[in-house]
Amino acid sequence: MLELSSKVQYVKGVGPRKAEALAAVGITTVSDLLFYLPFRYEDRSRVRPIRDLRAGEEATVLAKVLGMRVKRTRRPRFKVLEAVVDDDTGSITVIWFNQEFLKDILQVGRQVLLHGKVDYMPRGPGLQLKNPHYELVENGDFQPTHTGRVVPVYERVGPISPRMLRRISHSLVEGLPPELPAVLPETLQRRYGFPSLREALERAHFPEQGASLGLYNEFRSPAQQRLIFEELFSFSLGLALRRQAAAGLAKPRTFEVDDRIREKVRRILPFRLTEAQKSVSKTLADELASPRPMQRLLQGDVGSGKTIVAVMASVIVIENGAQVALMVPTEVLAEQHFGNVRRILSPAGYRVALLTSARNRSERDDLLASISKGEVNLVVGTHALIQQEVRFKELGLAIIDEQHRFGVLQRAELRAKGYAPDLLVMTATPIPRSLAMALYGDLDHSLLDEMPPGRLPVKTLLMRIEQREELRRLMEEHVVAGHQVYVICPVVEESERMDLKAAVETHRFLAEGPFSHRRVALVHGRMGSAEREKVMSAFAAGEVDILVATTVVEVGVDVPNATLMVVEQAERFGLSQLHQLRGRVGRGKSPSAAVLVYLPPLTPEAERRLAAMAETNDGFEIAERDLDIRGPGDYFGTRQWGEPLFRVANVLRDRELFDLARREAGELLSSPATVEQDRIINRVIQTWGQRFGLATAG
Ligand code: ADP
Ligand code: MG
Repeated sequence: MLELSSKVQYVKGVGPRKAEALAAVGITTVSDLLFYLPFRYEDRSRVRPIRDLRAGEEATVLAKVLGMRVKRTRRPRFKVLEAVVDDDTGSITVIWFNQEFLKDILQVGRQVLLHGKVDYMPRGPGLQLKNPHYELVENGDFQPTHTGRVVPVYERVGPISPRMLRRISHSLVEGLPPELPAVLPETLQRRYGFPSLREALERAHFPEQGASLGLYNEFRSPAQQRLIFEELFSFSLGLALRRQAAAGLAKPRTFEVDDRIREKVRRILPFRLTEAQKSVSKTLADELASPRPMQRLLQGDVGSGKTIVAVMASVIVIENGAQVALMVPTEVLAEQHFGNVRRILSPAGYRVALLTSARNRSERDDLLASISKGEVNLVVGTHALIQQEVRFKELGLAIIDEQHRFGVLQRAELRAKGYAPDLLVMTATPIPRSLAMALYGDLDHSLLDEMPPGRLPVKTLLMRIEQREELRRLMEEHVVAGHQVYVICPVVEESERMDLKAAVETHRFLAEGPFSHRRVALVHGRMGSAEREKVMSAFAAGEVDILVATTVVEVGVDVPNATLMVVEQAERFGLSQLHQLRGRVGRGKSPSAAVLVYLPPLTPEAERRLAAMAETNDGFEIAERDLDIRGPGDYFGTRQWGEPLFRVANVLRDRELFDLARREAGELLSSPATVEQDRIINRVIQTWGQRFGLATAG
């Protein structure tokens, strides 16, 4: 008898070779295979008389094989197996490509169920079934695994065809014991009218007779919903448990805030804080003073003023004699942050340093020595800060900006180096709440939901490329009014050289043509950092009217006098990138605008992106739309995680179930302990160390 934890190679029809292919996609146990659900279902329940078949439709027929032959084609090694089948109402030709072996299975005289697309071949046999799914029918009694019902369609796994997968999962489901240990409590199962785990698995693979195909294909059948809910429920429980564990840890020391420190903080402030900033700062101060480690995510739209909040927290830590690491995803961003933070903190006598790979060896060694001696109070750098040979005297606070570009695992690395600092994670690209919960469910959340005063919403215009004249007039208006203009050109890796050339040419054209009477400058990622810095600071100082730039300005730059953002080839940018770029203007008191210049015709996605930009300024709305357009793949694809986070759930599709599951998980944990609760928690702990490696990593 197979157990859920049995190795997959002992499943009937698998064997060592297929087991290897399955292992390559993370399927190693019976349980993994059971949760490898069909991604689609087809209705093959209606057997049709051959006489009634029409070209273009998908149909199932039950027929007898009359004859077969293998045809060679002009393409070498490409063979066609052609059969003729008959069902008393008529006959039809069937062809399979490169499946010669079928002739031994579908012998003449045998009954077969076939399901596939009916094609019309005007110069050949007329109607024809092409590459249909097949199933032998023996003695009139057959196992309708592949046809004759709503059948599952699986995504191929290496050499294992959907058809083989169907057969394997059929025998697997058949062999299931009558009861399976579930995480979902029975009370919840009953409350939501879900089938048992055993039944749900069976149905999700092989829907019951008369099942609604539509419901199954939307993953809304009770069977599928149960599996999804259970996964999200156990995920939520896992995160909550992890949080509880983290909350139980004590940190090496706390960072107290007294009047003296309060005064220090007040003195560095360059402006009056917004209410949102005040309240988040207070939360951070309380947490720094608490013996429990801070684990906090700070979300706030571009320009909402996250930096100063992080800086205030840093002052508290520094005044308590510990150090701060501020980590960002790119070196350019590190340089910009360094500039900002140093401007605020240096006057107060704090030592702020920048650690990038650009430094030469001896400079670097000196810096590392100062950091390890505790002479440097705050270090800005990329995540190399925690990966390389950097040693802190005492790291009290780690701040991670733009976290969405960081692997969550970096948090674990920090721990692994023996540091247990308070942790503040900041993200400027608002992550849809649904995703934030999935990604950061083990962090506390704070939100800067208020923009600094005097901000006017940025007006967004879409312009076709031939509206150049209109665009130039608009640019001139802004410059005449004493303001500055960004012109952003896309540069992507695949076409970097051509893109750079386009940016250079745009600059030359503007500088020598329509804006020869203005100060036009160029900055791009291939320039040396000193040169880039020079141009950027000239722009910041108001010495440049029009700055042609590649996306180096995307994050972090802050020039309140810039009021017009022109994005060239806007259709090539992602939605959150466009939103980030737009966030570069509208930082001062004058009305600002963003112009998205595009070249028609647009792809449907590009059209939706540009429309979204024109319709809303709200970063969260943008993020939701982005997710809708792109799907969650970019967040959950291999880029972020080695393997997908969920086996059956899809956070985008199943948002509502996710909410519900989270609430129920919270309820369970806050209710008095019972034997049932213990059992569930133990099961979650057992499974999730592996499944939710992500979450345990933090
Ligand atoms: P982000 O949240 O995108 O990191 P920043 O911290 O860079 O935003 O702040 C954006 C701009 O707003 C900066 O110029 C900053 O100095 C300014 N700013 C932040 N908070 C305030 C405030 N309370 N009053 C006025 N200006 C502020
Ligand atoms: Mg920022």
